[in-house]
Amino acid sequence: SIMYGCNNFCTYCIVPYVRGRERSRKFDDVVAEARALVEAGYKDITLLGQNVNSYGKDLDEGRDFADLIREINAIPGDFLIRFMTSHPRDATEKLFRTMAECEKCAKHIHLPVQSGSSRVLKAMNRHYDREKYLALVDMARSYMPDIVLTTDIIVGFPGETAEDFAETLSLVEQVRYDAMFTFIFSPREGTPAATMPDPVSREEKQVWFDQLVETANRISGEKHQEYIGRKLRVLVDGETGRGEYNLSARTNGGRLVHLKADPSLVGSFIEAEITDGNTWALYGVPAE
Ligand code: SF4
Repeated sequence: SIMYGCNNFCTYCIVPYVRGRERSRKFDDVVAEARALVEAGYKDITLLGQNVNSYGKDLDEGRDFADLIREINAIPGDFLIRFMTSHPRDATEKLFRTMAECEKCAKHIHLPVQSGSSRVLKAMNRHYDREKYLALVDMARSYMPDIVLTTDIIVGFPGETAEDFAETLSLVEQVRYDAMFTFIFSPREGTPAATMPDPVSREEKQVWFDQLVETANRISGEKHQEYIGRKLRVLVDGETGRGEYNLSARTNGGRLVHLKADPSLVGSFIEAEITDGNTWALYGVPAE
């Protein structure tokens, strides 16, 4: 964890009330911890925060989250830098440029959109609209054409209409996320959204939800099919204990790969050839 709390007050979320305002750990302390982890042999470091890309704003050190990635990237060694969760409001061109330039930074961003309707985004107090979000995706892809994009979406926010939901579906079709985490709105006591009028029935929300999941799964499956035949550097992270695909690994972008390989490879980066893929995972063997 590199920071705690959140300043955003999305109307459905209890985090700012229970975790307080954003507090970043000192820049040099985070870098020193990352250095110690790399020296101890760790290969995959995830920088965590409720709103990780606003890291540093409270420190008055003049250094931000992108500077932190660049500093950790400069630590000698073979390892990956991941981070989560980013708020679109704080995603900047500097961050995307830094990700592209830092060879140890995973080319993946989890960028929760929550809704494709600007009207709903305003009611959620997300501080961006559909157009701004789509422009961010274009900017990220202009720096990293193969970037893996994942997101969170809430279905059935109070006051959401069928037209709003259709905008969410169209945004998903336009962005084509590699993976999505989808939720039906559930009120959190003490948040503004819990008291908003919510006329759409649970049954109708379920129909929307099922449609969204079906779309998300189809797109993930199609994107995973595009990996077949490619050779990728993966980090082998464990044994599955199941079947012929006995090992699990992750691509640079964080996609799960079931590998058929020697267990002695656990903990190593290897070149893998992708032989198959479905909605949930890729399958592969060590490349010749
Ligand atoms: Fe903060 Fe995320 Fe909660 Fe919004 S959803 S208030 S950004 S923790």
